[in-house]
Amino acid sequence: MSRIEDKKTTGYVFNIQKYSVHDGPGIRTIAFLKGCHLRCRWCSNPESQETHPQVAVNNNRCIGTDKCHFCMDACPRGAVYSDGTKVAIRRELCKDCTDLACAHACPAQGLNIYGKLQTVDEVMKVVEQDAPFYARSGGGMTLSGGEPFLQGKFALALLREARARFIRTAVETCGMCEQDVLLEAGKHLNYVLFDIKSMDSAKHKEMTGLPNEHILSNLKAFCVEYPDTPILVRTPIVPGFNDTPEAVTAIAEFIEPLGDHVQYEMLPYHRLGTQKYEFLDRPYLMGETSLDNVAYKKLLKYAHRVLKDRHHIPH
Ligand code: SF4
Ligand code: SF4
Repeated sequence: MSRIEDKKTTGYVFNIQKYSVHDGPGIRTIAFLKGCHLRCRWCSNPESQETHPQVAVNNNRCIGTDKCHFCMDACPRGAVYSDGTKVAIRRELCKDCTDLACAHACPAQGLNIYGKLQTVDEVMKVVEQDAPFYARSGGGMTLSGGEPFLQGKFALALLREARARFIRTAVETCGMCEQDVLLEAGKHLNYVLFDIKSMDSAKHKEMTGLPNEHILSNLKAFCVEYPDTPILVRTPIVPGFNDTPEAVTAIAEFIEPLGDHVQYEMLPYHRLGTQKYEFLDRPYLMGETSLDNVAYKKLLKYAHRVLKDRHHIPH
């Protein structure tokens, strides 16, 4: 594809976050793309999961249906109603219509939109603003999501265009994507953050909606094709799912033969993002689950012991 075509390629983005230092080397700008095949119960970005833009209700911002009914008047499907004082949406009637007229009509951000159609050029204009920071820190652009490779054409065009502008690239992937897209992306990637959540496929399916075989096969294939690309395998440690030495050992044994370019990191379970489930009228399936910090630290120590010897855990 030509550079002109790449720049015009469009996709759905739900956030662009600047000055991140956690998602790849140096200072980075993260472009969050919509859409994911997985439905991880602990997902802190529920607004990322559907590919299309969605309407979100923030009742704290609604000025009250006794004073305002712009959104109710705007909806062509009669999906917006008053719960007595504030606005609510009958999700069974709402079709997240393409112009999201209700949210556009709201003067108070009582209704918001998760996701916006953007061109590669529009995204890159934001990313490029921090080019001096990238140069000094070794940072660049990270594609995240959702699963960024679900919008494969858009993700590839973003990566090509970043490299054409001499911006280093990274991706945060859950690995549940087409292998062809992942391997093609490898040509334009300087760094990969790859989630492995569990080696137990049945548990993986229970907690994420899908089994893990395709994900594991994707990581293996990527390592064969790109043995020099640094990869950070990450495991979000979720209580009752993978918070055991056995689960960590199984992952360690899987990544061991993949090569010294593969490092490993654990991420502690957190409850950030639960409010966004409310905004989308969705239940948060982890209930009141919380992380036992003492047990987590013990597990972290264990992972260091098991993996540091194998040169896989960052110092
Ligand atoms: S997104 Fe469309 S269908 Fe849904 S509530 Fe808003 S205007 Fe109505
Ligand atoms: S338009 Fe906004 S402020 Fe007015 S009732 Fe709807 S959500 Fe509330």
